[in-house]
Amino acid sequence: MQSIKRHNTVPVSIDHVLVGGNAPIVVQSMTNTDTADVVRTVQQVAELAKAGSELVRITVNNLESAKAVPEIRERLDKIGYNVPLVGDFHFNGHKLLTAVPECAEALGKFRINPGNVGRGKKRDEQFASMIEFACRYDKAVRIGVNWGSLDQELLATMLDENAKLAQPRDLALVQHDALIESALGSARKAESYGLAHDKIIISCKLSGVQGLIHTYRDLASQCDYPLHLGLTEAGMGSKGIVASTAALSVLLQEGIGDTIRISLTPEPGAPREKEVIVGQEILQCLGLRSFTPQVVACPGCGRTSSEYFQHLAEDIQSYLRHQMPIWKDNHPGVEDMSVAVMGCVVNGPGESKHANIGISLPGTGETPVAPVYEDGEKTVTLKGDNIAEEFQVLVNQYVER
Ligand code: SF4
Repeated sequence: MQSIKRHNTVPVSIDHVLVGGNAPIVVQSMTNTDTADVVRTVQQVAELAKAGSELVRITVNNLESAKAVPEIRERLDKIGYNVPLVGDFHFNGHKLLTAVPECAEALGKFRINPGNVGRGKKRDEQFASMIEFACRYDKAVRIGVNWGSLDQELLATMLDENAKLAQPRDLALVQHDALIESALGSARKAESYGLAHDKIIISCKLSGVQGLIHTYRDLASQCDYPLHLGLTEAGMGSKGIVASTAALSVLLQEGIGDTIRISLTPEPGAPREKEVIVGQEILQCLGLRSFTPQVVACPGCGRTSSEYFQHLAEDIQSYLRHQMPIWKDNHPGVEDMSVAVMGCVVNGPGESKHANIGISLPGTGETPVAPVYEDGEKTVTLKGDNIAEEFQVLVNQYVER
C-alpha cells in the first residue's frame, strides 16, 4: 500500500492523548446535551468514548455549565472513562474561567473562536485572559476559526487594505486570507501571551468542500501547528457523510490533518456516535488507522432474490464493532482483519478467498449451500436455516485462534 507522508507538525498533549507529530490521527466528537445537565452529559460523553471518540468536546456557555464541568470529569473518571474533555467557549469564556477556575483545571483543552472573543480593545484583553488560564493550568488550546463567525473587524481591515491596492484582489481571496490570518494571527498572539508553541492546535472550518481543501492546504504550508480537520455544518444523512469524506480524504491523502471531527446533523433518533464511526471509517478506508475488522459485501443484484445476505453483512459488521472492546486487548491486530459476505457464486468465492474469513451465500437458482473460506481455503459449507448464527460462531473462532 502506498504510504502517506504526513505534514510535519509539533505534537501537542491533551491529557494523555497526543495530537500531531507522528501520533495516529485522533478521532473526536462533541456532545449535544446541555452541559449543566451532568447526568445526560456524562452519559453521552461515555457513549461517544465507548464508540471510539478519543477527545470529546462539550459546550461551556454559561455559569451552570462551567460549574458542571469538574463534576462531569469526576464522574467520568469514576466509571472508567478518562477521555479528555475539550471546553467549547464563545463570547464569555474569559468570564466563565475567571468565575470557575476549577472548570479550566478539569478540561484537557480549550477551544477558542477568535471571531467570538469580543470586540475592539476588549477582544485582546479577553483573549489574553483565556490564554492566561491555559498557561496557568498547562492546557492545550485550539484556535478554532469558523467561516460562519469569522472575525468581522479583521475582515473589514483586510478589505480596506485590499481596496487601496492598485489592483484589488478578488473578494473571495481576501476572505480566504482573513480566515487564515485570524487563525495564525491569534496563535502568534497566544504565544506572545506566554502559551507554548506545542500547546496550540489550529482549525479553520468552512462548509464548502473546495474552500476547506484550499484553506487547509494554505494553513499547512504556513505553520507546523497540528491541524484539526472538519467540514462545519456538513449536513444530514448521506450528504453530510459524503461531503465530509470528500473534503477530508483529499487533505488526509496529502498528509494534512492531525485530528478529525465529522460534524453530522443527527437524524431524529440516530445515535450521536455515528459521527465517530464515520470518522473512523474514513481513516480506515485510507489505510491511516485501523479500528474494526471491515466487512466486504457486494451490493446485491438480480442474481440474488433475497436481501438475506445484506442483513447478514450488516449483522456481522455490527457484531464485529460490538466485540472490539473485548477483542482489542487480547487479540492485537484483529482490527486489520477483513470479513467477506457475498451474495452469489459470481464474485463470492473470489472475494471470500481474499478476506481472512468469508462466506459466499447462494444466489437465485444456486444450490442452497454457503461455502466458507478461511485464509483463502474452503473450510466448511453451511446450509439450512441458521447460516447467519453459524457463520458468526466461525468468525468468533477465527478471531480466538
Ligand atoms: Fe450480484 Fe453475485 Fe455480484 Fe453480489 S456477487 S452483486 S449477488 S453477481
